[in-house]
Amino acid sequence: MTILIRMATGFVALLLALGTAGAASAAGNHGTPQDDPIWNWPPEKIKKHVNTVRAGADLTPASWPNGARVAVTLSFDVDTEPVWIGFQEQSSPSYMSRGEFGARRGHTRVMALLKKHDIPATFFIPAMTMELHPEIIKGLKDNPKYEIGFHSYVHENPLKLDETDERRIYQYAMEIFEKHVGRRPAGFRSAAWDLTGSTIKIVQEMGFVYESSMMADERPYMLLSEGKETGLVELPVEWILDDWPLFQISWPTGHVAMRNAGDVMSIWKDEFDVAYEEGTMFLLTMHPQVIGHRYRMKMLDELITYMKSKGDVWFATHEEIARYVKAQAGL
Ligand SMILES: [Zn+2]
Repeated sequence: MTILIRMATGFVALLLALGTAGAASAAGNHGTPQDDPIWNWPPEKIKKHVNTVRAGADLTPASWPNGARVAVTLSFDVDTEPVWIGFQEQSSPSYMSRGEFGARRGHTRVMALLKKHDIPATFFIPAMTMELHPEIIKGLKDNPKYEIGFHSYVHENPLKLDETDERRIYQYAMEIFEKHVGRRPAGFRSAAWDLTGSTIKIVQEMGFVYESSMMADERPYMLLSEGKETGLVELPVEWILDDWPLFQISWPTGHVAMRNAGDVMSIWKDEFDVAYEEGTMFLLTMHPQVIGHRYRMKMLDELITYMKSKGDVWFATHEEIARYVKAQAGL
């Protein structure tokens, strides 16, 4: 079934009913057990399932460093070719070239913009991107303004893995990560922005400081697993604070979004304004192969200029925020 929505901007968004969630729809059943239909489950069994990973205490600190009113943290997921091969299951030369654009044009533009504004950023990079584009890591790893976080082996979908495979693949990816970066990462982000019932256990075993794939709040919070504090800080993400569903064209998942940059600026600016009023956190996720196109980079430049104009904004990496809120909470 096809639904056509004519946007106010004059662009047409074509949404296939089974694919409206874009990348998320490719993630299959989202981890809900299918062995017994859900309507046969008693409330206690459903509660136990829901309780697998939940939000604990709000970790917004009483104040941000230097009296800043809000913390702003930008992440760039440098997914390049792996997001197409590993997640969208596309391997033709054309799809590979879309990933290559992210490395050779998108990432170059992102780096120039960060340098222009002299602000930090966090880069979540699949191990296979490091193998394909080692020059990206060389340009990031020795600059303290830039954090490199863990983002799978080849952007594989964790919901297709059992616990043994998930652990083995993350350990293998970590070896490649350490080979290129020379240290272990503090941050974990799932390639699918989705976790299996085992992911948090594996993330704890691997010694991460924070997780950034969940959506139970807009503020940093303590991640709970089966009702217990994990010690992991959650820096939550959101699809409306992600360039992929707003701008990307992904035929395999039926997701076509060609938004006017002004539309996206309006969403992101309003999100920032309320985060500023509330004194919390504004975390934006982007992909060099998506945001790195010319008209979109112009908009990102304007957004950063606007946020900087407020004066009392703390621009930080995800790791800096995670460590700060943890310390402020006495953890
Ligand atoms: Zn990704």
